[in-house]
Amino acid sequence: MSRVAPNPDNLVTVDLQAVADNLAALRALLPMGMGVAGVVKADAYGHGMVPVARRLKAEGAEALAVAQVNEGALLRRAGIEGPILVLMGLTPEQTPLAAAHDLSPFLAVWEDFAALSQAAQAGGAQTACHLKIDTGMSRLGASPGEALELLERVAALPGLKIEGLASHLATSGVPGDPTAQKQAEVFSSLLAEARRRGHALPASSLEASGGILARPKNASEPPGLARLGISLYGGLPAMESRGVAPLRTAMRFISRLAAVRLVPAGAGVSYGHLWRAPQDTWLGVVAAGYSDGYPRSASNRGQVLIAGKPAPIRGRVCMNAVMVDLTGFDPLPAPGDEVVLLGRSGAEEITADQLGGWADTISYEITCSLGAANRRRHRS
Ligand SMILES: *Cc1c(COP(=O)(O)O)cnc(C)c1O
Repeated sequence: MSRVAPNPDNLVTVDLQAVADNLAALRALLPMGMGVAGVVKADAYGHGMVPVARRLKAEGAEALAVAQVNEGALLRRAGIEGPILVLMGLTPEQTPLAAAHDLSPFLAVWEDFAALSQAAQAGGAQTACHLKIDTGMSRLGASPGEALELLERVAALPGLKIEGLASHLATSGVPGDPTAQKQAEVFSSLLAEARRRGHALPASSLEASGGILARPKNASEPPGLARLGISLYGGLPAMESRGVAPLRTAMRFISRLAAVRLVPAGAGVSYGHLWRAPQDTWLGVVAAGYSDGYPRSASNRGQVLIAGKPAPIRGRVCMNAVMVDLTGFDPLPAPGDEVVLLGRSGAEEITADQLGGWADTISYEITCSLGAANRRRHRS
């Protein structure tokens, strides 16, 4: 959704201190000896991949994780050192790039390990990788039944260091969830057996934010890393894990009032007249819409904050505008006044989870969209 000329009225600010504080709060939940891989894929969920990665490394994150090889290469070019996990693995054409930049892809297929082994030998260095196992997500990974045999075969390949087993939970973030529990048990027993056979697999990983905020019980074999994404940015993987850690929303999105106007009782507002003024009503026209990454599905449901006070959205969210109800505002806001669509204003706050809730989506999608569409500034 990147634009030729982002609206100068609109600004995303990213509070890197909030990311650092969230990392510290999440560390307190980790079992002894477990490190953090900070997940910075998708431009750090819209927060800016390089600045967030730098801050996470400065705060002691043991590793970083991206989705694509290209993202990892970009981090290396920015001078970032240490392990970088590539969660989506790689295509055969990407193996030289992965080896050249010392990236650690998650792989699940013999041919991909063999190709990486070749690229590593050609480059004359050892390349790290992880064996991904599908314990129930049905996305990527070797089946649990074939995982150990595959591990023995790929461990014998020259040029490769298999640093961990990896898997991903499909239903995490809900305490006591039986599906996550089952996945954790499968993973734990595979990891225990692999270690019994002499594979150290120190950087193994299972849990993302949801798995850490609501840890499956009796998953006895401790993995070495938690892969934390949304929680570092202050969002929740599921509402059930609200309050488990004192997380702060790192992103703030502001716009301006383009106009303030009085519409008469009975006037229909915005496309389709989804809302009609029950009485003469002061409306503010906010200079941001769905082309700025603000979700159209928040039409007639969401709110914004003006001078620390909530103003409900009236009617449909447009491409470049949102109408909000200024009833009860005294003094009446004026054109040019700041509007907070995400984040804090005075004593009030709109979190990415709240906005996601109004829009029938998740905080992840909110921050990705807003971050991609707007000018962005970082505060350290
Ligand atoms: C995106 C992703 C994560 C991070 O998930 P959060 O819920 O944002 O913490 C971890 N592991 C994998 C495989 C992922 O794709």
